[in-house]
Amino acid sequence: MNYHLVLTRRCNLNCVYCHGGEETGPQAEVQYSLDDLASFLEQDDDVQLMFYGGEPTLRIPLMTKVMDRFPNARFMMQTNGLLLNKIPEDYVKRIHSVLVSIDGPEEVTDGYRSKGVYERVLENVRWLRSIGFDGDIVARMAVSQESDIYRDVCHLLNLKEPVFDHVHWQLNVMWDAEGNWTDFDSWVKESYSPGITQLVKEWVAGMKNGKVAGIVPFLPVMHTILTGKPSLLRCGSGLDTFAIHVDGSIGVCPISPDWEFSIVGNIKDTSPRNLKNIMIVEDPCPSCEEYDICGGRCLFVNKQRLWGQEGFDKVCDTVKHMISALQTESSTVRQLMKSGVISIDSFVYPEFNNGCEIIP
Ligand code: SF4
Ligand code: SF4
Repeated sequence: MNYHLVLTRRCNLNCVYCHGGEETGPQAEVQYSLDDLASFLEQDDDVQLMFYGGEPTLRIPLMTKVMDRFPNARFMMQTNGLLLNKIPEDYVKRIHSVLVSIDGPEEVTDGYRSKGVYERVLENVRWLRSIGFDGDIVARMAVSQESDIYRDVCHLLNLKEPVFDHVHWQLNVMWDAEGNWTDFDSWVKESYSPGITQLVKEWVAGMKNGKVAGIVPFLPVMHTILTGKPSLLRCGSGLDTFAIHVDGSIGVCPISPDWEFSIVGNIKDTSPRNLKNIMIVEDPCPSCEEYDICGGRCLFVNKQRLWGQEGFDKVCDTVKHMISALQTESSTVRQLMKSGVISIDSFVYPEFNNGCEIIP
């Protein structure tokens, strides 16, 4: 199974949509031993550990100890990228996918995250390329009201120095981010939805040259549309993906350690086999006409409607719009597949759950 391993709750940034830097003190650090972790993980014969925080690169010695202790595990990482180049080369090269937070062009990224972040992140991703890292490097965007999805995704996709293999985003909606928005409805109507339509059109037009650009939310959703194979919750939370919090408790999702409902065990007394499929999304998702394609978007939001039902529905409208835009273009994709220009394999992503939630 997949485990987000929270290496610390501290962060070295204080982004407008997160305020992670505020976590301090012993309660913010790992409070279990590697032996405790080993007793738990030894009961699972397919372990994937996803380094997570806070900011996981603040605890590189712990990260390398974990990698030494579990040599057969697969590793992923989500990082803000500021200290990426401090990870020893032979360790970082063992990581299958690195998700690096970057929100778009310099003014957008630095506006949300802090001055100088954009340039430092790119410098460190260039370093990652320069040492011969051959895993997947994903630009992971948090999208909020200063974002223009079309402009920002194109910017990241078109970067040449360094190249990102994939671009993923998630909307900054539904938890304590409400204050970040002055007019969510107008932003969706005038910026986000038209931007998605344009992005889908250009993505599909670009396939005529045999290239399927790495736009993460589009790839697996188009795969489902093309194959008709339904998807469950794509982030895997509560199904086969869990978070091991700093106190050893096990949550369905890494972002909600303080929500009681989300804690489903503890590494000291829970067996991995009792976790599988422990929590699933409830209505309105299973009754939704797009459930087979969407999969439910987010378990946390499904359980805690922090924007109320009206807010939940507004975000669903953005999902439905993206699905509809992809469906509209799917006949062109089918023709390209029929004539052998591209193949269905181009839409298989991710190879393993790498922490991309898929549905924005
Ligand atoms: S579109 Fe909304 S209601 Fe429908 S499955 Fe997705 S998250 Fe659930
Ligand atoms: S999509 Fe929702 S449930 Fe899934 S990992 Fe993200 S916050 Fe958690």
